[in-house]
Amino acid sequence: MNNDVENVIIIGSGPAGYTAALYTARANLNPLVIEGWMWGGLLQQTTDVENFPGYPQGIMGPQMMQDLRDQAERFGARFLTENATRVEPASAEGEPHTVWVDEDEYKAESVILAMGAEHKKLGVEGEEDLGGRGVSYCATCDAAFFKDRETIIVGGGDSAMEEAIFLAKFSSKVTIVHRRDEFRASKIMLERARSMENIEWLTPYVVEAFLPGDDGALDRARVRNVETGETRELPMNGAFIAIGHEPQSEIVQGIVATDDNGYVLTEGKSTRTDVPGFFAAGDLVDHTYRQAVTAAGTGCMAALDAEWYLRDNPKVPTPAALEGTGDLAEEQWVPAQPTRSA
Ligand code: NAP
Repeated sequence: MNNDVENVIIIGSGPAGYTAALYTARANLNPLVIEGWMWGGLLQQTTDVENFPGYPQGIMGPQMMQDLRDQAERFGARFLTENATRVEPASAEGEPHTVWVDEDEYKAESVILAMGAEHKKLGVEGEEDLGGRGVSYCATCDAAFFKDRETIIVGGGDSAMEEAIFLAKFSSKVTIVHRRDEFRASKIMLERARSMENIEWLTPYVVEAFLPGDDGALDRARVRNVETGETRELPMNGAFIAIGHEPQSEIVQGIVATDDNGYVLTEGKSTRTDVPGFFAAGDLVDHTYRQAVTAAGTGCMAALDAEWYLRDNPKVPTPAALEGTGDLAEEQWVPAQPTRSA
């Protein structure tokens, strides 16, 4: 067990986590970022980011995450490239907040939750079994495996269009399967997809099952017309599912308040959760805007909220500081008090 009590632990490492790290590092809070094995969040899986202010030529998603990480590191942020597995808020008996990475415990005065969101699953037959054998959630990662082969994209939002446009550079034919005739995607993304000759459209259809061939790899999908009920089998080599995201809030379920979809609830315009000393930012909270720039903005807010919280609440002496120092030993851990206004 690590005996130090951190000022702030940041869990997660998308634009929200790294921006919180940058701001808390610049505030001399020496943040510890438990960034996860797959550090960098969903932007690691995208190509060109054209809508982050300050990059007139756009920037590749992984490069942007590396830059954000480097910038936080420059000011002293420390990184643990492992997954946080459990958290426990400060106890009334005087224990500070605890974050576990498997058996290892990390103590902190404040915690910023920035675990982001993950790809939503369709939940149909064959989806899980054929994962990595033709079913994928990331065209950027896997498109090259389907060079000159036929693929489908499931979904009708911007992610689906982005994936389809990327995939169409590799696949001989990409069919976008969407459950409605209307698309949620923005006009510009739709137009780009429509301008590609090897993208076809199948609406209003849903996938009922992904089916394997003799070699055990994905071979076809059973699709159903939601209006007529007609079903048919669509031959293909790869299926990419792009139907949105769900928040990665498992480790705080039952600990901080969440909505029915698992998004962490924050108070008013702040990033404060209902647990004093816990703040939340990025896609873990936001199911409306979900942009890199908005995630970065709320990461900044969480850092400032944590900084103000630490200022307004008693300092936690580290066990090392307590040893042999009578004065400091007088100081006790005081469970965090809410600083919010009524
Ligand atoms: P989204 O906008 O929520 O779209 C999800 C799509 O999947 C919708 O078309 C939805 O259909 C469909 N869908 C959801 N559940 C389904 C199910 N169980 N079966 C079949 N279809 C299902 O999600 P997103 O595309 O990931 O975009 C999220 C946010 O990121 C948006 O704000 C978007 O603008 C943004 N984004 C922007 C860019 C860009 O600008 N380059 C790229 C990617 C994402 P319905 O429409 O029928 O509900």
